[in-house]
Amino acid sequence: MNLDLSAYYSQITAQYKSGSQISGRITEKWASDNLYCPKCGSGLEQYPNNKPVYDFYCDHSNEKIIVVPRENFQLKSTRSFPKRHFSNKIQGGEYNTAMRILKQGAFPSLILLHYERREMAVKDAMLVHRLSITSSCIKPRKPLPVTARRAGWQGSIITLDVIPKLGRITMIDDSNIIDKNIVQNRWDKVSKLLKGNTIQRGWTADIINFIDRLPPRFNLNDVYRYENELATLHPQNRHIRDKIRQQLQILRDRRFIKFIGSGEYQRAE
Ligand SMILES: [Zn+2]
Repeated sequence: MNLDLSAYYSQITAQYKSGSQISGRITEKWASDNLYCPKCGSGLEQYPNNKPVYDFYCDHSNEKIIVVPRENFQLKSTRSFPKRHFSNKIQGGEYNTAMRILKQGAFPSLILLHYERREMAVKDAMLVHRLSITSSCIKPRKPLPVTARRAGWQGSIITLDVIPKLGRITMIDDSNIIDKNIVQNRWDKVSKLLKGNTIQRGWTADIINFIDRLPPRFNLNDVYRYENELATLHPQNRHIRDKIRQQLQILRDRRFIKFIGSGEYQRAE
């Protein structure tokens, strides 16, 4: 992996005129040459330009024994990096489309890329595992006013801090390239932890997100304190406490937490 973008700047600036087009092409080309599939480690393939929702994919062609479904990725590049962190609110696509592909289980993983124009270098990259993106983190924006060219069009926002920490996997941290094995292991861990349809894994992801806020050792009542927040995220469900207990059992079976006894839990490392 090479973080230097200068060769792309000279190559692409000669081909395109508009500034936004140039930066989009530069980071796309860089990602295509440098990033890898976190599931199998192969290089990413780029979709033809202007394909909605998906930018890259991997067919895991090196996994010979079993057929593994294609993994899709969407690239989001930014030059702004306030407080050494990606912005908590990521611009998503049209809201109803986003919710539809989410329900179909077809939402892509996100690749968040931060680059510096002055240094012509990639500085940070983070993967957001598609299984950790649930209806809890996709929010509608206000529809565009009647005066707008696309009146009524409604975008969406993806809120990063509603996504459990383990679903946000750092690939490059302030110019340091994280070891590929570490990235692949983290990816694999999320794939094993967040299973089932969008609603099932939405619950699991939410409970993990709340457990992340608690000390490593906690009890059932600590998790019950998030009952109201969970009720807001899942308005159809009237049995939030039952659901909490069910999810804690699932998380124990998947070895994310251990039961210590008498309502006490311990996070597994
Ligand atoms: Zn792959």
